[in-house]
Amino acid sequence: MLDLTGQNVAILGAGRSGLAAAKLASRCGALVTVFDSRGPEVFTSFPEELKTHANATAETGAATLSDLVIISPGIETQGEFAQSFAVNSGGLWGEIELSWRCYAGKTIGITGTNGKTTTAELVNILVSANSMSCQPCGNYGVPFAEVVLQDEVPEVVALELSSFQLETTVDFKPDAVIWLNFSADHMDRYHDLMEYFEAKQRIFAKVDDETPVVIREGETLLALPGLPGKITTFSTEEEADWFLRGDDIFCGDSHFIDVSKTRLRGLHNAENLMAACAVVEGITPEVAQAALVDYAPPVHRCELVGIFDQVEWLNDSKATNLHALEAALRSQNRPTILIAGGKEKGLDYQLLAPLLAEKVTQAIFFGEIGASIAVNFFDVVPCETVDTLEEAVKFAAQKTKPGDTVLFSPGTSSFDQFSGYEARGDAFKSAVLSLP
Ligand code: ADP
Repeated sequence: MLDLTGQNVAILGAGRSGLAAAKLASRCGALVTVFDSRGPEVFTSFPEELKTHANATAETGAATLSDLVIISPGIETQGEFAQSFAVNSGGLWGEIELSWRCYAGKTIGITGTNGKTTTAELVNILVSANSMSCQPCGNYGVPFAEVVLQDEVPEVVALELSSFQLETTVDFKPDAVIWLNFSADHMDRYHDLMEYFEAKQRIFAKVDDETPVVIREGETLLALPGLPGKITTFSTEEEADWFLRGDDIFCGDSHFIDVSKTRLRGLHNAENLMAACAVVEGITPEVAQAALVDYAPPVHRCELVGIFDQVEWLNDSKATNLHALEAALRSQNRPTILIAGGKEKGLDYQLLAPLLAEKVTQAIFFGEIGASIAVNFFDVVPCETVDTLEEAVKFAAQKTKPGDTVLFSPGTSSFDQFSGYEARGDAFKSAVLSLP
């Protein structure tokens, strides 16, 4: 275990990750104070022995000397608040860096613009079936620090890593890496695409030539020769070490898995599955196929709400960027009514025009950016703009014919009208289930 005895550690952020980091740093012997810019109510679930500081500001930071700052991923690393603490400190780490330094097991780092959560679950299932204890964590919703603090620490972690978490790694060296894909997202936090990419590719910062790296073939921003690690590629479209033919996944000449015998839908999930299989050393096709029989993918990701009068309704509320919307559309093989829209995030919807022309018979846009997205597609498909998701569902119901799919894949975040993608997906499902 890392030794922080007697060191003053400032934890920034009182969320779940901040609380876990504070407990872990305390266990390492540190003198911990947790700072948050919100009021004292955010500390109500904190143990009394942890020192806390509510209503913290950049002035608080300027007046605080520490040996180490641990920052939560929700706080901007380069923002005034974090930097005011960082300049008076011996170092700045994210919660991932702290946890990794305290963890003796094997770390499989998983990143990409989309598919991280699903892939972390798949890796977990396959590693567990392959006789090692495993847990998904990180951006997955369970902080890595919580896992490290458990009485029973797993032998392997399937560590989902967002760009925000990767921004604040220092010596972090995963034992294996999955890089799923890269596309525009979070343009409300980054100045440009390159800045987002640079944060993400920090996952490779300490990787050496012996580290297994699983990466999607054709990733344009990465020069594959020159990338560190023992590289394995996967693709649903091109030649690769792992590839899809029909419903079947192959590794070289060997048949590995029949995806149609799992509950995973869509080409993008075949990619996630290939990446997960590729990272689990020594797993056999039989063990993998058996492990996946009962696996239900996470909700809000191309989730089948139901089939009513031969119309399939899909909830893909977790599609918070264009790349996810594109993946969902690419996998549709029935006439599709698309519902999209939500918060302005600075993404360029125009890029989707050819795919809409190919797949979509009616588009319905709602929310803050509904009208501005629609102008991209008036020439391409019939478009309707409404204010709310409920209206969009009602309008879709009037347009459906037997054999259609209604795909709710918003392509942006939900915060204009909802508290998050889960609430938005639940609202969609309840609107569908309330249709006459
Ligand atoms: P993340 O954790 O990276 O947000 P999720 O597994 O939660 O990824 O999926 C988020 C969204 O991305 C969903 O809409 C899902 O259908 C879509 N998606 C999942 N895997 C992929 C992939 N490999 N490529 C593109 N889109 C994907």
